[in-house]
Amino acid sequence: MTIEMIARIIEAEASVLDFQGKLAVAQCICDNRFDQNAFTKPTDDYSPESLKAAELAVLHGARRFPAASLLQFRSFTNYGRRGTPDWKKIYNSVPNDLLYLGCDSKGEYGHFYFGRWKNMATPFKMLVMAGHGRNMDGSYDPGACGCGYREAELTRELSRLIVARAKDNGIDCDLAPDRNHYSYFKSGGKYDVTQYKYVLEIHFNASTKVDPVGDGAIRGSMFYIDRSESGHSVEDAILQGLYDIGSRQAWDGVVITQRQYTNGLMVQNAIRRQGVSHAVLETCFISDADDMKWYQGHKDLIATKVVEGIIKGFGLAPKDSSYAYVGKGFVTMVALEDMNVRTGTNISAPAIGVVYRGQMVEVLKIFDNGWMQIVWPGAACGYAYTSNVHRKYYKKV
Ligand SMILES: [Zn+2]
Repeated sequence: MTIEMIARIIEAEASVLDFQGKLAVAQCICDNRFDQNAFTKPTDDYSPESLKAAELAVLHGARRFPAASLLQFRSFTNYGRRGTPDWKKIYNSVPNDLLYLGCDSKGEYGHFYFGRWKNMATPFKMLVMAGHGRNMDGSYDPGACGCGYREAELTRELSRLIVARAKDNGIDCDLAPDRNHYSYFKSGGKYDVTQYKYVLEIHFNASTKVDPVGDGAIRGSMFYIDRSESGHSVEDAILQGLYDIGSRQAWDGVVITQRQYTNGLMVQNAIRRQGVSHAVLETCFISDADDMKWYQGHKDLIATKVVEGIIKGFGLAPKDSSYAYVGKGFVTMVALEDMNVRTGTNISAPAIGVVYRGQMVEVLKIFDNGWMQIVWPGAACGYAYTSNVHRKYYKKV
């Protein structure tokens, strides 16, 4: 695929969007290995901005999401209703193992982006624990049973999906040993979890009001967190993701454990005593046929939404995923003398190259101190920094 062809596709997909929106399409073409069939029919002509986006992405490695692979996008027009995303429509069309990365918009027009994070900005490690299972005396605790399912099997299935999805997105994530941790801690077992920031324990809820047939009403999803937790923004983010894909709020959504269990929960207490955050996800009701139909039809997407919520709630996504470009797009500058290119915006940052007098750079951003972020293919991230303090060293072309 030629750069002109890419520019024509960008023009067809994102002519009304600003430079970031155009660069996103360019990134999506690059990240899909230039598979032209994945995109709309190219226009006959293209704007200078579309060409620039194509050049920056292909020749200089510029990216709308430098820390992610952008693999799919969907238009507001076809996948939203009056400005709000129609998630049902979106997830019938986007592969369910891709995370929602963000969007660009201009008025009523815009694109939702989907892909995989390659790495996280913050060091983070989590543990996923499946509820119920093999007891210490060798017997088996199946958990709740309903609609032909056993809780201990569902918790293991969903736990594995969540761990896989987390790893797909650069999150350090372990699966706890396959045992009933309630029985394990009760019989005095020790499990050091202090290396983790978050322990997520998977369960399925049960109600005395059983609906084995399906009355069309889902009972929904909720969390139990210990009263010692300082907040529940992570659990809120996960639940919102589950509601978006067809679940609903059960009870209060996030419930303080001690409201239901005066002495807390055995496993939760054991984790909290080590100072680690812990949450019990009651995914949905095993006793309700509507809930089980929802789970069986959405398990991959449920794992995706859990991981999305964790990334959002803990703020793990790299911050430069939405770095601002100069004005509407970019500026080309020419060096007035030989200039170092560095990994940061001051002269103590390591130099990784030189721009010689008369050479040009593509400016992505200008900082208050006069330093500039420029496209730099020699850096793994695709950009670097150079000084234009007092506007002495570069001028606009
Ligand atoms: Zn359970």
